[in-house]
Amino acid sequence: MSINKKKYKEITSALNGKVTLVAVSKTKSLEDIKALCDLGQKDFGENYVQELVDKYEALPNIQWHFIGHLQTNKVKYIAPFVSLIHGVDSFKLLKEINKQGEKNNRIINCLLQIHISEEETKFGLDEDELDDIIGSAELKNLKNIKVCGLMGMASFTDNEEAIRNEFRYLKTLFHSYNKLIVANCQLSILSMGMSADYKIAIEEGSNMVRIGSLIFGERIYNQ
Ligand SMILES: *Cc1c(COP(=O)(O)O)cnc(C)c1O
Repeated sequence: MSINKKKYKEITSALNGKVTLVAVSKTKSLEDIKALCDLGQKDFGENYVQELVDKYEALPNIQWHFIGHLQTNKVKYIAPFVSLIHGVDSFKLLKEINKQGEKNNRIINCLLQIHISEEETKFGLDEDELDDIIGSAELKNLKNIKVCGLMGMASFTDNEEAIRNEFRYLKTLFHSYNKLIVANCQLSILSMGMSADYKIAIEEGSNMVRIGSLIFGERIYNQ
Protein backbone atom coordinates (compact mmCIF):
# COMPACT_ATOMS: atom_id res chain seq x y z
CA MET A 1 0.00 0.00 0.00
CA SER A 2 1.10 3.54 -0.50
CA ILE A 3 -0.31 6.91 0.31
CA ASN A 4 -2.73 8.77 -1.92
CA LYS A 5 -0.78 11.93 -2.69
CA LYS A 6 -3.46 13.39 -4.87
CA LYS A 7 -6.08 13.03 -2.15
CA TYR A 8 -3.68 14.45 0.42
CA LYS A 9 -3.13 17.56 -1.68
CA GLU A 10 -6.83 17.90 -2.27
CA ILE A 11 -7.50 17.74 1.48
CA THR A 12 -4.74 20.16 2.45
CA SER A 13 -5.86 22.68 -0.12
CA ALA A 14 -9.46 22.41 1.14
CA LEU A 15 -8.21 23.00 4.71
CA ASN A 16 -6.42 26.05 3.42
CA GLY A 17 -4.09 26.42 6.40
CA LYS A 18 -7.04 27.22 8.67
CA VAL A 19 -7.82 23.73 9.87
CA THR A 20 -5.14 21.44 11.31
CA LEU A 21 -4.89 18.05 9.69
CA VAL A 22 -4.02 15.12 11.92
CA ALA A 23 -3.07 12.26 9.62
CA VAL A 24 -4.34 9.09 11.28
CA SER A 25 -1.68 6.46 10.68
CA LYS A 26 -2.89 3.58 12.86
CA THR A 27 -1.92 0.20 11.36
CA LYS A 28 0.10 1.98 8.66
CA SER A 29 3.82 1.50 8.00
CA LEU A 30 6.70 3.79 8.90
CA GLU A 31 7.42 3.95 5.21
CA ASP A 32 4.01 5.44 4.44
CA ILE A 33 4.32 7.84 7.37
CA LYS A 34 7.72 9.03 6.14
CA ALA A 35 6.36 9.50 2.64
CA LEU A 36 3.66 11.77 4.04
CA CYS A 37 6.22 13.68 6.14
CA ASP A 38 8.11 14.32 2.92
CA LEU A 39 5.01 16.10 1.61
CA GLY A 40 5.12 18.41 4.62
CA GLN A 41 2.71 16.69 7.01
CA LYS A 42 3.61 17.41 10.66
CA ASP A 43 0.84 15.96 12.85
CA PHE A 44 0.03 12.27 13.04
CA GLY A 45 -2.53 10.43 15.17
CA GLU A 46 -2.50 6.93 16.63
CA ASN A 47 -5.06 4.91 18.62
CA TYR A 48 -3.00 2.29 20.39
CA VAL A 49 -0.41 3.07 23.04
CA GLN A 50 2.17 0.45 22.09
CA GLU A 51 1.95 1.27 18.41
CA LEU A 52 2.34 4.96 19.16
CA VAL A 53 5.39 4.36 21.36
CA ASP A 54 7.05 2.20 18.70
CA LYS A 55 6.39 4.75 15.97
CA TYR A 56 7.54 7.63 18.14
CA GLU A 57 10.84 5.83 18.78
CA ALA A 58 11.35 5.41 15.05
CA LEU A 59 10.16 8.92 14.14
CA PRO A 60 10.65 11.21 17.15
CA ASN A 61 10.33 14.49 15.29
CA ILE A 62 6.70 14.08 14.38
CA GLN A 63 4.02 15.76 16.50
CA TRP A 64 2.24 12.67 17.76
CA HIS A 65 -1.41 12.81 18.78
CA PHE A 66 -3.12 10.12 20.78
CA ILE A 67 -6.68 9.84 19.50
CA GLY A 68 -7.85 6.52 20.95
CA HIS A 69 -9.37 5.55 24.25
CA LEU A 70 -6.66 5.95 26.88
CA GLN A 71 -6.49 3.74 29.94
CA THR A 72 -5.19 5.38 33.09
CA ASN A 73 -2.46 2.80 33.58
CA LYS A 74 -1.02 3.49 30.12
CA VAL A 75 -0.65 7.25 30.35
CA LYS A 76 2.93 6.88 31.57
CA TYR A 77 4.12 5.38 28.27
CA ILE A 78 3.10 8.34 26.13
CA ALA A 79 3.50 11.16 28.66
CA PRO A 80 7.15 11.91 27.79
CA PHE A 81 6.42 12.91 24.21
CA VAL A 82 2.74 13.09 23.21
CA SER A 83 1.79 16.41 21.68
CA LEU A 84 -1.99 16.22 22.19
CA ILE A 85 -4.30 13.66 23.82
CA HIS A 86 -7.74 13.88 22.16
CA GLY A 87 -9.85 11.41 24.11
CA VAL A 88 -9.88 12.52 27.73
CA ASP A 89 -13.22 11.44 29.15
CA SER A 90 -12.87 11.47 32.92
CA PHE A 91 -11.43 13.62 35.66
CA LYS A 92 -9.54 10.60 36.92
CA LEU A 93 -7.74 10.32 33.60
CA LEU A 94 -6.99 14.04 33.57
CA LYS A 95 -5.44 13.76 37.03
CA GLU A 96 -3.28 10.85 35.94
CA ILE A 97 -2.12 12.77 32.87
CA ASN A 98 -1.24 15.66 35.18
CA LYS A 99 0.73 13.35 37.45
CA GLN A 100 2.69 11.92 34.53
CA GLY A 101 3.22 15.41 33.14
CA GLU A 102 4.73 16.40 36.46
CA LYS A 103 7.06 13.39 36.42
CA ASN A 104 8.22 14.32 32.95
CA ASN A 105 8.46 17.99 33.78
CA ARG A 106 6.15 19.06 30.98
CA ILE A 107 2.67 20.32 30.36
CA ILE A 108 0.53 17.85 28.43
CA ASN A 109 -2.12 19.22 26.08
CA CYS A 110 -5.52 17.53 26.27
CA LEU A 111 -8.92 17.64 24.61
CA LEU A 112 -12.05 16.56 26.43
CA GLN A 113 -14.01 14.04 24.43
CA ILE A 114 -17.73 14.65 24.24
CA HIS A 115 -20.24 11.95 23.42
CA ILE A 116 -22.20 13.36 20.48
CA SER A 117 -23.27 10.30 18.52
CA GLU A 118 -26.35 8.11 18.76
CA GLU A 119 -24.16 5.10 19.34
CA GLU A 120 -23.82 3.71 22.84
CA THR A 121 -20.35 2.37 22.23
CA LYS A 122 -18.52 5.60 21.60
CA PHE A 123 -16.71 7.05 24.57
CA GLY A 124 -17.09 10.54 25.85
CA LEU A 125 -18.53 12.91 28.41
CA ASP A 126 -22.04 14.26 28.45
CA GLU A 127 -22.81 17.91 29.03
CA ASP A 128 -23.13 17.57 32.81
CA GLU A 129 -19.87 15.67 33.14
CA LEU A 130 -18.12 18.31 31.06
CA ASP A 131 -19.55 21.00 33.27
CA ASP A 132 -18.38 19.15 36.38
CA ILE A 133 -14.81 18.96 35.08
CA ILE A 134 -14.58 22.50 33.84
CA GLY A 135 -16.35 23.87 36.90
CA SER A 136 -14.28 21.85 39.33
CA ALA A 137 -12.22 23.77 41.87
CA GLU A 138 -9.55 21.09 41.56
CA LEU A 139 -8.94 21.72 37.87
CA LYS A 140 -6.82 24.81 38.34
CA ASN A 141 -4.44 22.85 40.57
CA LEU A 142 -3.47 20.56 37.73
CA LYS A 143 -0.40 22.50 36.66
CA ASN A 144 0.93 19.90 34.25
CA ILE A 145 -2.01 19.65 31.90
CA LYS A 146 -3.68 22.10 29.61
CA VAL A 147 -7.23 21.58 28.42
CA CYS A 148 -7.05 23.00 24.89
CA GLY A 149 -10.42 22.08 23.48
CA LEU A 150 -13.07 19.51 22.72
CA MET A 151 -13.21 16.42 20.52
CA GLY A 152 -16.12 14.39 19.23
CA MET A 153 -17.05 11.64 16.82
CA ALA A 154 -20.30 11.75 14.89
CA SER A 155 -22.53 8.74 14.30
CA PHE A 156 -21.56 6.29 11.63
CA THR A 157 -24.43 6.94 9.23
CA ASP A 158 -25.26 8.16 5.74
CA ASN A 159 -27.64 10.69 7.20
CA GLU A 160 -25.81 13.94 6.58
CA GLU A 161 -28.29 16.00 8.55
CA ALA A 162 -27.84 13.83 11.63
CA ILE A 163 -24.06 14.19 11.40
CA ARG A 164 -24.35 17.91 10.90
CA ASN A 165 -26.57 18.27 13.96
CA GLU A 166 -24.11 16.34 16.11
CA PHE A 167 -21.23 18.58 15.03
CA ARG A 168 -23.38 21.65 15.53
CA TYR A 169 -24.17 20.55 19.07
CA LEU A 170 -20.45 20.12 19.81
CA LYS A 171 -19.65 23.53 18.40
CA THR A 172 -22.31 25.12 20.59
CA LEU A 173 -20.82 23.48 23.66
CA PHE A 174 -17.36 24.63 22.56
CA HIS A 175 -18.53 28.22 22.23
CA SER A 176 -20.25 28.17 25.56
CA TYR A 177 -16.92 27.44 27.26
CA ASN A 178 -14.31 29.08 25.08
CA LYS A 179 -14.55 32.45 26.78
CA LEU A 180 -13.29 30.96 30.02
CA ILE A 181 -10.13 32.36 31.46
CA VAL A 182 -8.63 29.63 33.59
CA ALA A 183 -4.88 29.34 33.17
CA ASN A 184 -4.85 25.67 32.28
CA CYS A 185 -8.21 25.49 30.51
CA GLN A 186 -8.57 27.59 27.41
CA LEU A 187 -10.59 26.02 24.68
CA SER A 188 -9.24 26.85 21.25
CA ILE A 189 -9.24 23.48 19.47
CA LEU A 190 -12.38 21.83 18.14
CA SER A 191 -11.36 18.39 16.89
CA MET A 192 -14.13 16.92 14.77
CA GLY A 193 -14.31 15.27 11.36
CA MET A 194 -12.86 12.08 9.86
CA SER A 195 -12.55 10.73 6.31
CA ALA A 196 -16.27 10.31 5.78
CA ASP A 197 -17.50 13.53 7.37
CA TYR A 198 -14.67 16.07 7.47
CA LYS A 199 -16.29 18.38 4.94
CA ILE A 200 -19.42 18.66 7.06
CA ALA A 201 -17.27 19.11 10.17
CA ILE A 202 -15.43 22.04 8.63
CA GLU A 203 -18.66 23.66 7.55
CA GLU A 204 -19.79 23.34 11.15
CA GLY A 205 -16.71 25.01 12.59
CA SER A 206 -14.10 22.30 13.14
CA ASN A 207 -10.52 23.53 13.27
CA MET A 208 -8.85 20.13 13.56
CA VAL A 209 -9.72 17.06 11.49
CA ARG A 210 -8.46 13.51 11.95
CA ILE A 211 -8.18 11.76 8.60
CA GLY A 212 -6.86 8.26 7.99
CA SER A 213 -8.27 6.10 5.24
CA LEU A 214 -8.68 8.84 2.63
CA ILE A 215 -4.93 9.42 2.75
CA PHE A 216 -3.53 6.01 3.65
CA GLY A 217 -6.17 3.73 2.13
CA GLU A 218 -8.47 1.36 3.96
CA ARG A 219 -7.10 -0.28 7.08
CA ILE A 220 -6.59 -4.01 7.26
CA TYR A 221 -6.53 -5.14 10.88
CA ASN A 222 -5.65 -8.79 10.64
CA GLN A 223 -2.21 -8.49 9.11
C1 LIG B 1 -9.44 5.90 13.13
C2 LIG B 1 -9.87 7.21 13.64
C3 LIG B 1 -9.94 8.32 12.79
C4 LIG B 1 -9.68 8.25 11.30
O1 LIG B 1 -10.66 7.51 10.66
P1 LIG B 1 -10.80 7.53 9.05
O2 LIG B 1 -12.20 7.18 8.82
O3 LIG B 1 -9.85 6.49 8.57
O4 LIG B 1 -10.44 8.87 8.58
C5 LIG B 1 -10.28 9.54 13.35
N1 LIG B 1 -10.55 9.67 14.66
C6 LIG B 1 -10.49 8.63 15.50
C7 LIG B 1 -10.80 8.85 16.94
C8 LIG B 1 -10.17 7.36 15.02
O5 LIG B 1 -10.14 6.33 15.86
